[in-house]
Amino acid sequence: MISTIGFDADDTLWVNEPNYRQTEAEFCRILEPWLPEPEVSKGLFATEMANLELYGYGAKGFILSMIETAIRLSNGTISNEKLNHIIGLGKELLDRDVELLDGVKSVLAGLQGKCRLILATKGDLLDQERKLRKSGLEGYFHHIEIMSDKTENNYKKLLAHLEIQPEEFLMVGNSLKSDILPVLNLGGYGVYVPYHTTWQHEHIEHLPDNPNFAEIPGIKHLPGLLEKYEIGH
Ligand SMILES: [Mg+2]
Repeated sequence: MISTIGFDADDTLWVNEPNYRQTEAEFCRILEPWLPEPEVSKGLFATEMANLELYGYGAKGFILSMIETAIRLSNGTISNEKLNHIIGLGKELLDRDVELLDGVKSVLAGLQGKCRLILATKGDLLDQERKLRKSGLEGYFHHIEIMSDKTENNYKKLLAHLEIQPEEFLMVGNSLKSDILPVLNLGGYGVYVPYHTTWQHEHIEHLPDNPNFAEIPGIKHLPGLLEKYEIGH
């Protein structure tokens, strides 16, 4: 019996990746006098990957990586005015309104009371807290976990904290790498809800071949899928 359903937040409950891609496009336009867009994009991604261990996931690391990339790709010739513009783009990214994905509220409202709902997200603590507050979804969740990374070990700790077995846990999310594979590996259930844009770092080539894996085209399809499972406390 599934006692607890976990939800990823970014691009599962609300729009996230398109905001980053829009910021990146504006960043590339600022660097246009030095390099064409694909090379700036590639340079930014390389900086982000090199910084991941130090900065972790989230908007603040992304902002620092944009600044570092701009200085590197311009060979130190970028003006303070342009660097300020980049910092401004980052602040805009942090200050955006939260746009819920279609059907999220009704799905959560329908599941509330039937089992425990939790939110498991990764990124900057303050940024994720702010988005959650703006989303108006806080009240649906029994527990909110903001993780530095969604590794198997971190999920193991989360399940221990919730005092549940992996077989009672079903995770819903848009990233196979972060939301689905670690949970399947522990013996839990994973429901993959692909989003039209996925950060290349989260990209996985093949769908898992596991009886506990399911894919739905949108979160609206979750209640229909869950009819196949035994859900309860
Ligand atoms: Mg996500």
